[in-house]
Order: sequence, then C-alpha cells, then structure tokens
Amino acid sequence: MASIPPTKTRVKPRKPRKPSGSRPMRCMKSECHHGPTNTYSLATPIGTMELVSCPRGIHTLGQLNTINDDNFIPRPDQEVCIKTQLFKDNGYTYKPALKCVEWLSLYFKKDPTLHTLPLPAICSFLKKSNKGATFTSRVLHNLAHKIKYGQTVSYGALGKLSGSPTGACRAVGQAMRNNPVQILIPCHRVIEASGKIGNYSGGSKNNTKVWLLQLEGVLKT
Ligand SMILES: [Zn+2]
Repeated sequence: MASIPPTKTRVKPRKPRKPSGSRPMRCMKSECHHGPTNTYSLATPIGTMELVSCPRGIHTLGQLNTINDDNFIPRPDQEVCIKTQLFKDNGYTYKPALKCVEWLSLYFKKDPTLHTLPLPAICSFLKKSNKGATFTSRVLHNLAHKIKYGQTVSYGALGKLSGSPTGACRAVGQAMRNNPVQILIPCHRVIEASGKIGNYSGGSKNNTKVWLLQLEGVLKT
C-alpha cells in the first residue's frame, strides 16, 4: 500500500473563548453599511427559519441547517411569527423583517392578496441591475422577479434568461445552492429539464422543495 505523504496544515492559535454571561445573545453576522444586522428566529410551516436583516433590507432567510429530509415535518397550520431575535443594536424589529413575516404568512396561507404585495426589501446586494452584475446575481434577480408563484423553470432556461447562451446549468445550480434568501428568491421553482424536481439545498432538503411545490399547486399532493 502506498504511503500517503503527510499534509501540512497551518493551525491558527485559537483565542480563549469568553465565558458567556447573562447578557442577551448578539448576532455575529457581518456588518452592512446600512446599519447593524439583527437576526430573527421565525416559526413557519416548514420549521424554524432564520432571518437576518439590516434596517434597509433582508440579508438572509433560510430554514435552520439542522432541518433535513430525515426530520422535516411540515406544519401547515403554523402561524408565521417571530420567536426570538438576536440583536446588535437596540433590539428594534426592522421594517423589512416585519414585512417578511407578513409576506411569508400570506404565502403559506395561499392568500391571493400575496400577489398585490411587493417582495420584502432585500438589501442592496441584489439591487444591482442586470447590467454589469455577476451571473449569479442576474440568475437570482431573474428568479425573484420573473418566475412567479406556481411556475417552474429549468436550470438551463433560467441560465439562458440570465444571459448564458448555453444555459450554464451547473452554474445556475451553484447559484441556487448559494441562494441567500429562501422562498423570496424561489429556488424551489427551479427544476430539471426532464421534469424531475432536482435538488434543494444541495440535496439535503428535497422534501421541503416537494412540499413547497405542492403548496403552490405545481405538484399534486
Ligand atoms: Zn444591509
């Protein structure tokens, strides 16, 4: 058996952790030039979602990482509400966070007035116009604004819509995997050209994708 040469790894000395006190937990997400980001834990029909928002818009929204296909139990009757918030400043519940809760609440109830509501504000990382934006940001922008409730699009078609002559399915898949804002940027509506639903969250949350597509009437229950 060939011996494997040892790999050199640099180990950075760790700073000792400060003991945790009784102060409120503080969000450790990166700062935004619009202000501090607060982190909200939301109860939703697809389990706990974490929402990070600055005063101007949402940075991230997603189911907890611990939710996967083995333990996913949808609770259709769960009201969307803020369970806890971890804050960096004074604990304000930012307007984009409240709008997001309202939007998600209507979304999960299949309330027709959802279509009259604008998407909750997403922080400026997605506000770039298509011109000069990266392929990933164009893909996410088009998905958020052009693929509506109850519609689906294939990876390749979304790639072509975003300026790739070949469709760049793999790059689109990577963009979906890195989607920072679950549901509002509806990567669950991106499916394979064959009609197979494809992966969600790298394949760990495919049952959630099926459930969302059933909720929107794309798949039969
Ligand atoms: Zn921001």
